[in-house]
Amino acid sequence: MKGMKKNVALLLAVVLVGFAALGGYFFYAVTAYGTRWFSTPYNTRLQRAKSQVYAGSIYDRSAHLLVRTGEDGSREYPVSETAKAAMAQLIGDVNGAVPTGAESMFANYLLGFQSSLAERFSQLFSGQRVGDSIQLTVDIELQKYAYQLFPEGKRGGAVLYNYKTGEIYCLYSTPGIDLDDPTAGLDEEDDGLLLNRITQGRYAPGSVFKIVTLACALEYLPDVMNRSFHCEGSLQVTEEVALTDTDGEGHGDLTFGEAFAKSCNIAFGQLALELGQERLAKTARAMGFDGNFLFSDLIVYESLFPDSIADEGELAWTGVGQGKLMVNPMHMALIVGSVANDGQMVEPQLLLGVVDSQLRVTNKLSTKVYTRTMSASVAKTIQELMIQVVESGTGSAAAVEGYTIGGKTGTAQVNSSGGAYQPHSWYVGFCADEEAPFAVCVVVENGGSGSGSAARLAGDLMERAIERLAGDA
Ligand SMILES: [Zn+2]
Repeated sequence: MKGMKKNVALLLAVVLVGFAALGGYFFYAVTAYGTRWFSTPYNTRLQRAKSQVYAGSIYDRSAHLLVRTGEDGSREYPVSETAKAAMAQLIGDVNGAVPTGAESMFANYLLGFQSSLAERFSQLFSGQRVGDSIQLTVDIELQKYAYQLFPEGKRGGAVLYNYKTGEIYCLYSTPGIDLDDPTAGLDEEDDGLLLNRITQGRYAPGSVFKIVTLACALEYLPDVMNRSFHCEGSLQVTEEVALTDTDGEGHGDLTFGEAFAKSCNIAFGQLALELGQERLAKTARAMGFDGNFLFSDLIVYESLFPDSIADEGELAWTGVGQGKLMVNPMHMALIVGSVANDGQMVEPQLLLGVVDSQLRVTNKLSTKVYTRTMSASVAKTIQELMIQVVESGTGSAAAVEGYTIGGKTGTAQVNSSGGAYQPHSWYVGFCADEEAPFAVCVVVENGGSGSGSAARLAGDLMERAIERLAGDA
């Protein structure tokens, strides 16, 4: 009998601990994941509300109306065809097929779950429940411009944001859904229509990763700025693996700055070998690799630094952005923004404010510092070296007249069995001018060399952003 009592008590204790753990996790999930938790298609309360509430409108940062609810309750897009195509992936559909779209991420506001009591009370008498409207940080003109600049038929995307405030001015991804018919084309095997390539894509980074290797070298090798390198175009690392430059001609004698400006694989592979896997991984993780971004407005997939690097050959290739590295474009933009912001990474934000039915603005954007990725002195040195890349190196196509632009190109080899694919074209960069603290990232899948299409596109987008938004924030 006594033994049985003991067993019951033990069982009860186990059950209680289980409940406490579950409750604790639930609390953590709701507070940590907030809107993400709310916006999943599995939230039945949300699904029911969609049929009962007159959802609020969506505006851009200059109060241009992008989305509204029509008389019949369906969503309408009172914008040009160009704008509609340009914002498809950003806005997403109401059913959450594009789970990262604004319709899903901000459903709690649009469907009135955040409305004040007074507001709900007043709606009792009007007979119709109305959600709040939201204003996005995005500039629809810049968004359209990204769509127009993007090479026709290519996949990829572009993001441009303010690295001091976190406001995203442009978040373009292609291909996108058809907003008027969100399910069109979805039954085909290709699921690429639902993916935001900037926030959810993962790519081999190619030479844009040299920014990470560079930061690591600046941190751990005190004399590295005074080093010089000699490049013959290839370097036998192990018996089987040779490191090669893209053109294979060899860069000859190089200063450290020149090695970065010309994106020399031989120099950066040698640095990676000297630094070693552990230090490289540490620097990458300080910048957010393998992390779990908990941003309130945006679901950003993490970038992956390989768990294990087999040998010196793979280590050298990892240092120049090949190997098993997988990088998310939004994360890459954040890294570069943190370089430009003297080492501080701010949280990227899409929600400028919420406008309730009484036209009061609530939930106004406030800048949140996310993490420090590197020391201010390392950041300042990288800024200078990235400015040289645009002034005299591979990033010259991204220059904007009258402004100080820093950047880095990348050409990521695509491993494919067919072998006929063009490499992915990358560009990341920033404007250093006080009144235009903007960072940009462009990825063109199979776009060829990064110094070509991606850099040019990023330069044009940056120029337009400066024209429209400099001094605005
Ligand atoms: Zn070289």
